[in-house]
Amino acid sequence: MSQNDVNSPAVGPAYEIRRSNIHGTGVFAARDLRKGERILEYLGERISKEESERRGLALMEKAQHDGGAAVYIFTLDDEWDLDGDQPDNDARLINHSCEPNCDAWNYDNRLFIEARRAIKKGEELGFNYGFSVDTWEDHPCRCGMPKCAGYIVAREEWPKLRRAMMAKLRAASVERAKKSGSRAAGSDA
Ligand SMILES: [Zn+2]
Repeated sequence: MSQNDVNSPAVGPAYEIRRSNIHGTGVFAARDLRKGERILEYLGERISKEESERRGLALMEKAQHDGGAAVYIFTLDDEWDLDGDQPDNDARLINHSCEPNCDAWNYDNRLFIEARRAIKKGEELGFNYGFSVDTWEDHPCRCGMPKCAGYIVAREEWPKLRRAMMAKLRAASVERAKKSGSRAAGSDA
């Protein structure tokens, strides 16, 4: 039995799953959605921080081996995380967006995906995954939005992300200058 019983039978299902232009499969509005409308629950297993860290490290190792691992772990509170890596969790198929039309809200440690604004039938749903800036390089973004940050990082950490990206660019140009034997690095003299 699915816990995604938030769809009212009177107005039909709020979402449908199909191929996405952003990445693999996506979730789309099956009808016009009102701003603030609850679309579906992000289902998952409630796990301790310790277990969450263990699973996170295992995923990172997997990513280093085969170049990709999907992260479905969300922070619920100081004690608990939610691992949404299970087949009945349709919300795991919602792609990240840097200009999202949905938000994920925590109500008493259950996560719900809600419309951030009015959404037209057929629009792909997206929300900001809210990943930490600490792992920015592991999560390049291909959301295609005009204001895409380039990496999947929580909105409030974008200033930190920009600084990290600039620092990396500077380090790379210093490295190039060293390799080419140029003395111009960091000096106009
Ligand atoms: Zn993006």
